[in-house]
Amino acid sequence: MKKIDQAATFLAAHTQLFRCPVCLAPYATVEGHSLICPNGHNVDLSKKGTLYFMQRAVASEYDNDMLAARRRMLQAGLFAGITDAFAAKLPAGPQTILDVGCGEGTPLDDVLKHRNGQDAAVGFDLSKPGINLATQLDNDAFFCVADLAQMPFADHQFTAILDLFSPSAYNEFNRVLAPGGKLLKVIPNPDYLIELRQAIFPAGSAHASYDNSNVLDLFQKHYPNATVERIRYQVPVPAELFADLMLMTPMHWGADEARLAEVKANPFPAITVDVTLLTAEGVK
Ligand SMILES: [Zn+2]
Repeated sequence: MKKIDQAATFLAAHTQLFRCPVCLAPYATVEGHSLICPNGHNVDLSKKGTLYFMQRAVASEYDNDMLAARRRMLQAGLFAGITDAFAAKLPAGPQTILDVGCGEGTPLDDVLKHRNGQDAAVGFDLSKPGINLATQLDNDAFFCVADLAQMPFADHQFTAILDLFSPSAYNEFNRVLAPGGKLLKVIPNPDYLIELRQAIFPAGSAHASYDNSNVLDLFQKHYPNATVERIRYQVPVPAELFADLMLMTPMHWGADEARLAEVKANPFPAITVDVTLLTAEGVK
């Protein structure tokens, strides 16, 4: 089946997950390749089977080279320890999963590989190039370009939200989560990619360390009963992927060019992934 037809089939089966970003009414019907709200606003599937919900253009900071580098590193298993943990936290029965800031889609794809195909899954991101890469993956998830602050999703329809390194909009999360739905958020710890950080930035420079305490505090304010777990592991970095590791995160943006060239010439064999997994239930 063509991607656009596969996407139309998904929309017909799951129309109730989406709401119109113009008038906020839940969408009522799918006609051909368009989703139509009760007030006649419509949004059309792209040939790739994605929807573009943005009300204003937002420039994505991730360019195609970064996204491609990210795809190669993630497919080499960089986030496998995280996506394994996501899958372990999801209840066994069919879930309706929303991946917030899904990027090029590999993490959601990895989670779905652990599942038995009963879930409905939607990933969204601000980045149109990211979503175009995500929709090429071979899975049943639906991908769209949308804004975290104005999510085009109906109230209380999702049983799980995944947030891997993306900003959060807790009011929106609580609005779209079903009663008892799970929010799984992963934030980087100070040692995340520490070998790279230490190689790129001299000790004592502004970027030499990273502090997640503000994000953690804010999460715990919204969800006082959240569980907090540390996930830490090392992943081998094949020499041919070392340039991808350097390019895949925004870390290099603040770096000195000569220093970056030196690091690139002296690759190291493994990298540390150190993150905090926060688990909470939606609050009405
Ligand atoms: Zn509308």
